[in-house]
Amino acid sequence: MYANIIIDISHEMVDRTFQYRVPPEMEGKVLVGTQVHIPFGAGNHLRKGYVVDLTEKAEFDPRKIKDVAGVAVDGVTAQSRLIQVAWWLKERYGSTMNQALKTVLPVKQKVKQKEARFIRRLLSKEDIRREAQEAARKHYGARERLLRALEDAEEIPYQVAVNQMNLTMASIKPMVEKGMIALEKETVMRNPLIRGSLKSGAVELNPGQRAAVDEFVSRYDKGIRETALLYGVTGSGKTEVYMEMIAHILEAGRQVIVLIPEIALTYQTVLRFYKRFGSLVSIINSRMSAGERYDQFERAKSGEVKIMIGPRSALFTPFSDVGLIIVDEEHETAYKSEISPRYHARETAVYLAQMSGACVVLGSATPSLEAYSKALCGQWKLYRLEQRAKKDSRMAKVHVIDLREELKEGNKSIFSRKLCKAMEERLEAGQQIMLFMNRRGYASFVSCRSCGEAVKCPHCDVTLTLHFGQKLVCHYCGHEAKAPDRCPQCGSPYIAGFGTGTQKVEEMTKKMFPKARVLRMDMDTTSKKGGHEEILSVFSEGKADILIGTQMIVKGHDFPRVTLVGVLAADLSLYTSDFRCGERTFQLLTQAAGRAGRDELAGEVVIQTYNPEHYSIACAARQDYESFYRQEMVYRELLHYPPVVQLLAVMAFCRSEETLEAAMEALSRWAGEGMHERGGRREEADRAEKGSWELEIIGPAQAPIYKVNDIYRKILYLKHENYDILIKLKNYMEEQSRQAPWHQQVMIQYDFA
Ligand code: ADP
Ligand code: ZN
Ligand code: ZN
Repeated sequence: MYANIIIDISHEMVDRTFQYRVPPEMEGKVLVGTQVHIPFGAGNHLRKGYVVDLTEKAEFDPRKIKDVAGVAVDGVTAQSRLIQVAWWLKERYGSTMNQALKTVLPVKQKVKQKEARFIRRLLSKEDIRREAQEAARKHYGARERLLRALEDAEEIPYQVAVNQMNLTMASIKPMVEKGMIALEKETVMRNPLIRGSLKSGAVELNPGQRAAVDEFVSRYDKGIRETALLYGVTGSGKTEVYMEMIAHILEAGRQVIVLIPEIALTYQTVLRFYKRFGSLVSIINSRMSAGERYDQFERAKSGEVKIMIGPRSALFTPFSDVGLIIVDEEHETAYKSEISPRYHARETAVYLAQMSGACVVLGSATPSLEAYSKALCGQWKLYRLEQRAKKDSRMAKVHVIDLREELKEGNKSIFSRKLCKAMEERLEAGQQIMLFMNRRGYASFVSCRSCGEAVKCPHCDVTLTLHFGQKLVCHYCGHEAKAPDRCPQCGSPYIAGFGTGTQKVEEMTKKMFPKARVLRMDMDTTSKKGGHEEILSVFSEGKADILIGTQMIVKGHDFPRVTLVGVLAADLSLYTSDFRCGERTFQLLTQAAGRAGRDELAGEVVIQTYNPEHYSIACAARQDYESFYRQEMVYRELLHYPPVVQLLAVMAFCRSEETLEAAMEALSRWAGEGMHERGGRREEADRAEKGSWELEIIGPAQAPIYKVNDIYRKILYLKHENYDILIKLKNYMEEQSRQAPWHQQVMIQYDFA
């Protein structure tokens, strides 16, 4: 047996492993992840390394391979566990060990370790409030945000102020000079746990919340380590439940990881945790530099920080003893990595928890079908919160408007008569409105009315998107062109933009409601750092009446003054090539509806659609998850889609269509062969045990977008009930393709749906 070992876990060295022999007496003790001593270099000095792979194949002349010297005393560290996770990611999702290691290990940056700094308020609560009002009057947005946050929390980490609240040193300095705040290196209320002020920020839980927390605590104390789904309607107070659970785990001396989708990771959310747990909390996000992130991970390793909040990469926080992993909004698509290894944070959290003896709590108002089906069959524990947490807040009243009827009545505007009237009423009453549009850009594409051709990207198989200012942009490769005034195909002058995007909605809204203050939030307006926070805070401070946006406005934000939500074209997310589009649509509409009337003010939602009968829309309008779930499961069963079967997509990319075709043919053949490779007898036994073992091979076919950046893409789908079989097939295909003549020309990606 040989072990491949990395000597030092730093950016450069991960690329390279060194092979050593595992002496027979160490077999079973030297595992993937184990830290070992090895003789290194010409002088054979003993160095420490981590085992990343075990194999029977020698990489070079076996006589020249040195022996592992011994297992290190601290053989299993947080690093060891992460290396094991990397191994699992590689096996499970298909990637190189190198890609997997880079995913789990933070890039070591040779920056001087910075001390954590804090901003502390020096004035009383009342004075701070007065200063905040003063800042608001002068339109000092950033200053106002900070001061308002300091009203409830005596201190805020510098890092939160900069990364989440978008302050700069230039905006902080004048406040320091005026003696309003102080910038300090040490936190004053370090370790609130020990000081017993842990409960300071806690609210009194309602009976539903109490029941969930009590059951969690009692099961934890009995030693039960399990995965649970916290299914609670929007506004039911899931965050408060998480915080109670976290408090219990901290009391047990363990640490907690909280995953929140990046888009919902606003400073309001962060502050809720910070107010409760003070400097035990740390946050990472994707806008931080590698060095900043590394710093946060170091603080976690040293035990200074006990709760790490962040998007999916926070999973890999090197805590010594994680006791709980929370995945908020577990249904979010952002939890699936788009680069290799294409891991899903939910599944990875469950694996990590099993390895560390931790619990997992997944929270959602619209659970993924995967999670809910597991919870229903008892594989996972289920906690329910059926009521909104705040006393007077009720579910919003929802109207579904059939746009075909509007057209029949002669209304060609993007606003139905119902929505228009409701908007007038809200503006009159000085309340706020959100308009939700599922698409960005001014109009989605330009096409010819004579020949019907749409203007396409010359490098990709997609239509170009028309942006404001008559610019055509390819959202896949970035190609830009001026909008043509004649059809490139037939020369006809009758070409025009089709569809509506957020920019167009903004324009129409301004035309229709000239007095309203309108804000737009989409990829275009938020691309600069902090743009997102800036817009949200302007809106939450009541400085605008209408917020128009894409899905980023429906995620987790709490705007008490929003009493009307309009969904302009609910069908837009219904017709995509993804089998989850019905689920996505239901989730988006339910979340959008959940934005209205979160406080005492009654809320109303208007959903405009060409398809009012579709169950995704009808169920969302009734806020009826259960019946959506039942109908969607019927569809998945009928068409054999997850979670009913497991689905592996094999995607191949190549510049030559011919080579690609040959590769796909081979892959498809290997998939069939791989099934038999498993050996007849085992297969018989498995079949007897688990029922049918049919492998379905679909394709190969062209990918939904056949060409991107002049590279062709084809796809093959494999379906099987058993995930492990698909993993075996994947490994077999990987092995075979390494020896294929086209190996250098074709890139292959495996993606478990
Ligand atoms: P969810 O995450 O389920 O959508 P939140 O945790 O954001 O819900 O809670 C919604 C609102 O209700 C928040 O403003 C929160 O402070 C408030 N809230 C939660 N629990 C309680 C409670 N027990 N009593 C009063 N208010 C509560
Ligand atoms: Zn034409
Ligand atoms: Zn392109």
